[in-house]
Amino acid sequence: MGLDVIKSKIGDVEIMQVVEQPLDKYYTLFLPMATPEEIGKIDWLANSHHVREDLSLRGSSQMFILKVNKRVFVIDTCIGNEEDLLEFPFWANLNIEFLETLDAIGFDRDSVTDVLCTHLHLDHVGWNTFKKKGKWHPTFPKAKYHFAKDEFEWWHTVPAENDFLITHKDVLSQSVYPIIEAGLANFVEVNQDLGDGITLLPTPGHTVAHISVQIKTGNETFIIGGDMCHHPCQIAHPDWAMPADYSQEKSTSTRRKMFESIADTEILYTCTHFKNPSFGKVGKNSNGEFDFQPIDKEN
Ligand SMILES: [Zn+2]
Repeated sequence: MGLDVIKSKIGDVEIMQVVEQPLDKYYTLFLPMATPEEIGKIDWLANSHHVREDLSLRGSSQMFILKVNKRVFVIDTCIGNEEDLLEFPFWANLNIEFLETLDAIGFDRDSVTDVLCTHLHLDHVGWNTFKKKGKWHPTFPKAKYHFAKDEFEWWHTVPAENDFLITHKDVLSQSVYPIIEAGLANFVEVNQDLGDGITLLPTPGHTVAHISVQIKTGNETFIIGGDMCHHPCQIAHPDWAMPADYSQEKSTSTRRKMFESIADTEILYTCTHFKNPSFGKVGKNSNGEFDFQPIDKEN
């Protein structure tokens, strides 16, 4: 019973991924251009664990927990339970054993020092809070919750003129405003140094001020790229942008820039929804095409 929890280690950083649910069946919405026919043309991907036998895409809604020196970082907090989500009825009012799973593995929510949301979409902020007796409470009551200042400003001030935006106003009320009211919010710059080798990287496009997280530990460096990609197929095709992107042009140029900078280095890369084993290395071939080779750090 309980949810899947995957443990791994990079350098001195202990990593846990708590998988809220598989997202496989939603990928035709996320990336409609990634048809089985197109995926079949990408050799390194077609035989990997990132696709099903029928070449449809696989991915997860998951939360990363990193133990870095004396700090405990939570990165992206999934969809959450009992959420009011007008535009996304299939994710509304979930009742998943998420907190029970944390309890069952002996994870102390009070030990979390930092929570970071790469952006403020509903599937990255849900477990910032939980509902008890009709009220929303911080899930990690002793943590600082870092939000990019420009990201928050945008969602806070944008007029609620369609169902997607109305839904995200509810998301703020359920998962962000209660954090501010509890005095736990810390508004950061998109390139902020958070100490202990942890730096934010501006990766705009999917949302207006989307951020990624870079962690240096010993001789190793890894990046958690939030939703700058929803699936490794976008490493082969940086121009495959999601219909819901704030700017598809910008998300595409953000991907190209990132892959150019890390290709053929030792830097490990993943994004929030990449199925486990999630980390890998980006390479570039003589035709200028990028690929992704998974590295299994499971322990
Ligand atoms: Zn997402």
